[in-house]
Amino acid sequence: MKFGPFEGSIEDATCPLCIDRNSSAQLIFKNRDGIGFYKCLGCNLMLASPRFTEESMLKIYENEAFADLSMYDNWSYEEWRQSRSRSYNIEQQKILLVKRYLPEKSRLLDVGCGTGLFVLEATRSGFLCEGIEPSMRLSGIGSNVLKVPVSTVQIEDYNITYKFNGIVIWDVLEHLYDPVRVMRRCGELLESDGFLFLQVPNYKGISNSYKTQLHRLGLKNNFKHFGFPWHVYSFDRKSLSVLSRQAGFKPVLFESWSHLLKDGKTGSLSQIIINLARQQCLSDYIVCVAQKY
Ligand SMILES: [Zn+2]
Repeated sequence: MKFGPFEGSIEDATCPLCIDRNSSAQLIFKNRDGIGFYKCLGCNLMLASPRFTEESMLKIYENEAFADLSMYDNWSYEEWRQSRSRSYNIEQQKILLVKRYLPEKSRLLDVGCGTGLFVLEATRSGFLCEGIEPSMRLSGIGSNVLKVPVSTVQIEDYNITYKFNGIVIWDVLEHLYDPVRVMRRCGELLESDGFLFLQVPNYKGISNSYKTQLHRLGLKNNFKHFGFPWHVYSFDRKSLSVLSRQAGFKPVLFESWSHLLKDGKTGSLSQIIINLARQQCLSDYIVCVAQKY
């Protein structure tokens, strides 16, 4: 199959959370390439089908220079901090979230840490933090430019002698064909009452819902907001709850961070929108904290 510039083998997808329950799925939209976007009626997970096989997708990742890494060319932590850019503000939100659940000196692991910006900020905030990242290009920046402890490894192959108090997994699960397996592996690496902090796309966010409606009304036809082929799933609170419980976690918080918050716009009117988006999970990404049980 060809999809835009990408080529590979394809397969039909079924809900990874309802494998034994044979739940049916509702077609939300089919784009002109024949890719369907379905909502599982058992758990509310949204999935793309057909999709590239996992093997084909790994090849696509290998060939893709997907991230703009120019900000690391003449990297200066002070300049990054003073820029108050979105990337800086997002890391601050993550740190504030983790601090609500874990004290200083807690041991943290960032799964799929990219270049290691969170590892850097968490370390500066008094946590003992390390990261793992399968892409050598990204982990290399972490080790050589940010100078943080980042290992080039997949979580399945990551073996250590100690356990973590918290694991963060930002913007990763929507890429994984078997998110339950990876979350269970996180559970094995966590202390018994440890916390998992995660963020995934939220198809019930205002902007995502609006774009989906435009497609269903026939006014748009590429379903680009889903993020296919990289993203194979999108979530809401219910599907995240089902996923968490299957992996041995109890969800303790859902919230979302608005663009205003990420852009550092904190005037009083902005604050009202920021709080509403946070409480009602109205943004296009949803944050979940889940505790191991
Ligand atoms: Zn399902």
